[in-house]
Amino acid sequence: RERTFICVKPDSVQRGLIGDIIKRFEQKGFKLVAMKMMQASEELLKAHYEEHAAKPFFPPLVKYMGSGPLVPMVWEGQGVVKMGRMILGETNPLDDQPGTIRGDYSIRMAKNVAHGSDAVESAKREISLWFTDSELN
Ligand code: ATP
Repeated sequence: RERTFICVKPDSVQRGLIGDIIKRFEQKGFKLVAMKMMQASEELLKAHYEEHAAKPFFPPLVKYMGSGPLVPMVWEGQGVVKMGRMILGETNPLDDQPGTIRGDYSIRMAKNVAHGSDAVESAKREISLWFTDSELN
């Protein structure tokens, strides 16, 4: 069964957006498989964003993601990876239609509310990075 990794970013936790993000995935019909609130280590964040290691925004991105608690979660359902990206919206919130999470809640690329896996393979990698087997149903 297809699964994706969604992670509510620190300022969205602080702004009280966790519930709305969960609601949008639930109302679409996806199943919440795992979820927790945690402070991520620098090591975990660097591994998570390893594809961006050479980018200029990598150090501030890792710093920002470590600036407060995050809410990583795993969602399951047919087509959840692609639809998860559609529910989130474009990377740059200024490109989004209202109705997407990023379109509704952000105007800044660096603070674009939540992360979502971009492919089935990256979802598998990210889920195993953030969750132990015993945390996954
Ligand atoms: P995410 O991986 O968080 O879901 P994404 O897959 O839409 O986002 P990526 O291109 O993988 O986007 O970038 C990862 C994250 O890095 C983005 O969510 C954003 O927070 C940050 N980022 C990407 N590009 C920039 C940039 N040019 N300036 C600042 N931050 C950026």
